[in-house]
This record gives sequence, C-alpha cells and structure tokens, in this order.
Amino acid sequence: AAKADGKGVHRFYEPEMHASAKDKRLLEMDLRKVMSENGLSLVYQPVVDAVTEAIVGFEALARWNHPTRGLVSPASFIPVAEEIGLIPQIGEWVLRTACLEAAKWPDNVRVAVNISPIQFASPALPGIVLSALAAAQLPPHRLELEITEGVFLGEGEDTDAMFARLKAIGVRFALDDFGTGYSSLGYLKKAPFDKIKVDQSFVRGAAVPGSRNAAIVRAIVTLAESLGMETTAEGAETPEELALIRSLGCSHIQGYIFGKPMSSDEARARVAQHGKFAMPGLLVSRDPR
Ligand code: C2E
Ligand code: MG
Ligand code: MG
Ligand code: MG
Repeated sequence: AAKADGKGVHRFYEPEMHASAKDKRLLEMDLRKVMSENGLSLVYQPVVDAVTEAIVGFEALARWNHPTRGLVSPASFIPVAEEIGLIPQIGEWVLRTACLEAAKWPDNVRVAVNISPIQFASPALPGIVLSALAAAQLPPHRLELEITEGVFLGEGEDTDAMFARLKAIGVRFALDDFGTGYSSLGYLKKAPFDKIKVDQSFVRGAAVPGSRNAAIVRAIVTLAESLGMETTAEGAETPEELALIRSLGCSHIQGYIFGKPMSSDEARARVAQHGKFAMPGLLVSRDPR
C-alpha cells in the first residue's frame, strides 16, 4: 500500500499492488502524458562526508505527482517507463533539470543522477550529458552518474565504449545498489567507477547484534579502498547504524538520518546553512587520489 514518507506529502501509490492489467494500462496512458503535463519533479537527498558531516552532494530522485493517484514511487513508474519506451525522454529531462539545479549550489557540491540501463545503451547519451552540462554551465566533475550492474547484463559490447566516451567528458561514475543482484567483481575491474554505493539492505539492521551485514559492509569498503574508490552507505536511519557505518570506514553516508529527499528549495537552503562546513581543508578524504 501507500507508504508514509515523512512531511505528510509523500504517499506513494504502488501500482503492483493492483494487479489488474486494465489498471496498468491506465497508468501507462497517464505516464505517456507526464512530460507534456509537467507531472514529474525531482527531489534531492543529501550525501554527507562520513567524518565531517559536510554535504558533498545530493542525489536527484524522480517523483511523479499524479493528478488523482498522488505521488507515484519511481520504484513503480521507472520500470513501466522502461517498458513503454519513455525512459530516454524522462531520463533526459532528469539530467537537464538536475544539472540546472546543481549549478545553483556551491562549487564543491555534486549532483548524482540515476541512469537507466536503457539510457546507457543509447549512443545519444554522451551528447545529452554534454548539452545538459553546457546549458547549466556545470563543470563535468560535479555530475555523478549512478548506474547499476544492469548496464552489464545486456548484449552490449558497447558498454566499454560508452564508459570511455562519458569518462572523456569528465563525469564521475557510481555503482549503485552494490551487493544486490550478481555483483560480479569483474564489473569493478572493467569499469571506471569512482564510488561504490553499498545497498541499503546491508546498512539497515547492520547494527543489530549478530547481524552479518557489518562484515559484508566492511569487506565492500576494504575492496573499494584498495581499488581507489569511495563508498557511500545508503539508507542509514538510526544513530546505531550511523555509528557502525562510520566505524566500518565508509567515506560517505546517505540516509534518512541526515535527510530525506527534499525539494530543490530545501536543498538550496540546506547547503547555504551547512555549506560553510564544506571547505576542502576540512574534508578528511579517504580517496587516495
Ligand atoms: P536508488 O538510486 O538506490 O535511490 C535510493 C533510494 O533509497 C531512494 O528511493 C531514497 O529515497 C531511498 N532512501 C534513501 N535513504 C533512505 C533511508 O534511510 N531509509 C529508507 N527506507 N529509504 C532511503 P526512491 O526515491 O523511492 O527511489 C527508488 C529508486 O528509483 C532509486 O533507487 C532508483 O533506482 C530509481 N530512480 C529514482 N529516480 C530515478 C531517475 O531519475 N532515473 C532512473 N533511471 N531511476 C530513478
Ligand atoms: Mg541511485
Ligand atoms: Mg541505491
Ligand atoms: Mg536502491
């Protein structure tokens, strides 16, 4: 059912709860109109340095404000958009909007954008990224593309070429949801990731005595450090989880404990407030580069 997500506004409608094919077709029809009706928006969730708690960036997360159903979760509508061929359009809008927003933040604050495997397989992607950066006048190193191992699962021998083209532009790469799915170590060898995002399923409950999650997170952090990559622990909610994640050496933390996804206005206010802490000299970087 709908989940309460704080601040009263976030009631997610989960279409998979209503299994009828007719209902799904209705949702598809509505989704086809979403771009022309300005039905999409982005919210931004802070990513903080694990040691200093300075905001180092925000992840842009899509929201569909449906006229009658309310807020539809991206976990529900992104898969539908992928299925009906709308991802290129939606994904381009997300990239452009996120870059324009990030350009209003201080120079040391990055924006992370989720890229669907379908977008990653499109030869148009580097051009769209370049154009979004140019329109916003955002330096490429301030844009981080979050991709999942899904990009490696298709036919694409073109995956390597896509990484190379995007790397040449100067954007950063994060491997999202690491630890779920197949998590082949070969992906870490093959692709130029700057960061591994430890999936929230390992972070949540890691502080529970006897949990094996802490050992798994520690192993991922060790692996990432020896490969020269940063780590972000996703989904830290409690002070106990935060303390544990810190002790395991994750370089960054993203979770409700530091902030739920918020509007662009709130994000801007948040960096203005906390930006003064985000001075390079203060950052204790675990990144060996
Ligand atoms: P993700 O990329 O792994 O994003 C993190 C998700 O975890 C977000 O859910 C975020 O709100 C949630 N989260 C963060 N911290 C906590 C926490 O402490 N506790 C809990 N319970 N949840 C937390 P959200 O916004 O519902 O997004 C779900 C997924 O939808 C994303 O997972 C991403 O895979 C996808 N998505 C969102 N926006 C886009 C987009 O613009 N394009 C594409 N292709 N996918 C998107
Ligand atoms: Mg993500
Ligand atoms: Mg994730
Ligand atoms: Mg996830």
